[in-house]
Amino acid sequence: MERRSSTRRVFLGSSAVALTGLSGCLSRLTEGTGGGGDTGENETDGSGGEGDDTTPDDEEREDSEPLDPPEGGAVVFVYDDGPIEDYTQAFPAHQAFDAPATTGIVTEWIGRENYMGTDWMGVEHLEELEDAGWEICSHTVDHTAVGTFELVEDAHSDDDRVYPDGIRHGYWEPRDLEITDGQKTVTRTVLGWDEDETGRYIELDEPLGESFTKGESLTRYPEDGMEEALGESKRELESLGFEIDTFLAPYDSFDDYSREFAIDHYMGIANAEHGSRVNDPDGFDPFYTERDYFLEFTSPESVIADLDEIADRGALGVIGAHTFKDEVTEDGIYETLEWIDERGIEVMTLREAIERYGGQ
Ligand SMILES: [Zn+2]
Repeated sequence: MERRSSTRRVFLGSSAVALTGLSGCLSRLTEGTGGGGDTGENETDGSGGEGDDTTPDDEEREDSEPLDPPEGGAVVFVYDDGPIEDYTQAFPAHQAFDAPATTGIVTEWIGRENYMGTDWMGVEHLEELEDAGWEICSHTVDHTAVGTFELVEDAHSDDDRVYPDGIRHGYWEPRDLEITDGQKTVTRTVLGWDEDETGRYIELDEPLGESFTKGESLTRYPEDGMEEALGESKRELESLGFEIDTFLAPYDSFDDYSREFAIDHYMGIANAEHGSRVNDPDGFDPFYTERDYFLEFTSPESVIADLDEIADRGALGVIGAHTFKDEVTEDGIYETLEWIDERGIEVMTLREAIERYGGQ
């Protein structure tokens, strides 16, 4: 397919992602206050992950060499955001099948209570999951959108508003944002976002001083903002004792620009491409991983058809869910695991899937 044809210009790589990105996560996150219950930061030596700077050669592994991909296919479950329901609803279902999962953690939300309608897993929950074979995955510090968004209206030099196809870069303020067409780049500070008769816009601290053409220009975080968004949550999770190798992009917003930075920090991305559950077993590239949801925005028939294909082709399925959503229940997860089990498909973490499929 067109997976590898992504040599399209970096600054225009996001439009498909932006269109589908509405399915991702929580709709508006205006407050980015610090803190976050980092309880138990000194307890990481007890039961948490072992040596994080040594090569992975656990005695428990059958072999130090990665295994080949399973002939009957594999499925990776990647849960979003780290709500307590990952622990109370997903974990019991997965334990019943002795099947691990991967959970994407927003470090500022660790241990928060009654925040955005639910509680959030604490360090002790994450340690228990990791001990049970789950993988902890980075989902940024504050759910930052790391993709780019294309301008859908021309911007003039005296404008202090831009109208991109997604206003997620307006959620965090004040934060520096670049507006670029690849020839010229302007950096302004974001003051927020709103909507007027033209559409939704991001408000900037001062006029652009340059003009930008719609369809040829975009918003993106500057290099230091990208390094922070991609690296800081990994460092924080590692300092808590977890082994962090993979990244889950907030809002499924990920593109060639994000990839440039992500490659420095991770061995793969859970949702580099959104919209399909099936990854071709031949030539799987973990920086182009396809993921789609399995209990939200879908039907059982669609999931079953994909599981049949995964089993037939020995393919790698990557499926996701937000467990705080009403339609994502323990029963639904259990039933999906039954379908997988009936087909002889293996369930593994994203890390293991990359090790087994990625070296092809
Ligand atoms: Zn998320």
